[in-house]
Amino acid sequence: NKLTNDLSHVTEADRANVWHHLLQHKSLETTDPRIIVKGQGLRIWDQHGAEFIDAVSGGVWTVNVGYGRESIANAIRDQLIELPYWAGSGGTIPGALFSEKLLTKMPGLSRVYYANSGSEANEKVFKMVRQISARLHGGKKSKILYRERDYHGATIGTLAACGQEERAMQYGPFPDGFVAVPHCLEYRAQWDVENYGERAADAIEEVILREGPDTVGLLCLEPVTAGGGVIVPPKGYWQRVQEICKKYDILLHIDEVVCGMGRTGTWFGYQNYGIQPDFVTMAKGVASGYAAISCCVTTEAVFEQFKDASDKLSYFRDISTFGGCTAGPAAALENMRIIEDEGLLANTVAMGERIMANLNALMEKHKVIGDVRGAGLFAGAELVADRATKEPMAEAEVSRVVAEGAKRGVMFGMTNRSLTGFNNTLCFSPALIATPDDIDAITDAVDGALTAVFG
Ligand code: PLP
Repeated sequence: NKLTNDLSHVTEADRANVWHHLLQHKSLETTDPRIIVKGQGLRIWDQHGAEFIDAVSGGVWTVNVGYGRESIANAIRDQLIELPYWAGSGGTIPGALFSEKLLTKMPGLSRVYYANSGSEANEKVFKMVRQISARLHGGKKSKILYRERDYHGATIGTLAACGQEERAMQYGPFPDGFVAVPHCLEYRAQWDVENYGERAADAIEEVILREGPDTVGLLCLEPVTAGGGVIVPPKGYWQRVQEICKKYDILLHIDEVVCGMGRTGTWFGYQNYGIQPDFVTMAKGVASGYAAISCCVTTEAVFEQFKDASDKLSYFRDISTFGGCTAGPAAALENMRIIEDEGLLANTVAMGERIMANLNALMEKHKVIGDVRGAGLFAGAELVADRATKEPMAEAEVSRVVAEGAKRGVMFGMTNRSLTGFNNTLCFSPALIATPDDIDAITDAVDGALTAVFG
């Protein structure tokens, strides 16, 4: 590869020119930026040749089928030579075939709208709901409910629906009509009850009643909250959520940007809970990061709302320029074939059980682990300064654990930096091809890192 042959000045080129995501750049005055130059399977190498196990699938739970997949690269190459792009009227072959394949895994849903990032797919849902409200309810049923600790994207619209305060602070003013509902993390319980899942869902109903059911159009939730703390909703939660949405005629939107395409051991996270959403959005794992693609998937009933020939404003007046890139659906088709043919959903379930068992064993040994949570190959270990009071471990200490993990050759993540105290969870989301040895290597590194930092 021409680009990797000479790495002599890449560090300085990066330091001098790149503005990195989520980085306070002062730190790069004293340390080098880490440049990842190669990946194969679960392994990645930096510019100095150091090898790591990537326990977070590209940093942000994306590379579900692992690195170095020639068949995806070939599918993209072949398609680009045939036709790289078309976003005029009509469609493309990979766009048609991927949507057909995708919908075979999503009973009850029947339309796919293409875009290229998770934020953008979520914005599409918000716009569709606002348009339905304008047409059917005189604009009144337009409020969008989101949950504390959930995240739906980096645009102003999705930040208006952000349950992680620090991400949204200083970027307002935001559009009106976005209202928070309480989070459902039982470890940090807000109600002292037995049926915690149902109680947490009832809290959503309380917000709906306070706001007025005829003003609420959408409830937007992550199936498992990712960056907000790897929160798996408690038993009873989802059934109640579905009932509440039906009762008040509120559309249910599941943001599968992280959980979609196998991460939790089912094609989509919501499928673990037997619920039927009206919208599902997905992005990261759809093409495992080999190409940019996101999808907003919805029902025929929603789609029908945009087909009134007597009203010239009734169609969805939205375009995504790069929703017309064919590399995305071409890569996504091959990505799905790999997940199916290699049995990666079953592997995810098995390896998910193993990582949970290993983390639970570490909890016995390390008193700083307050809680372990997970679904499939998506796990979190919440660190606390004191198990009895559950005082969150300071962010600086959690960062030290992550740095010690990297010294041991494993990159795992931590939940988002936050002013409101949920920056204390170590995150694990390796590629769905992980083997038992990979899982053990990851948790051995966690063991070593915790010992190094806390003794
Ligand atoms: N939704 C969830 C649950 C996410 O975790 C993210 C990104 O991390 C997004 C949406 C936004 O996706 P993107 O960064 O592709 O815009």
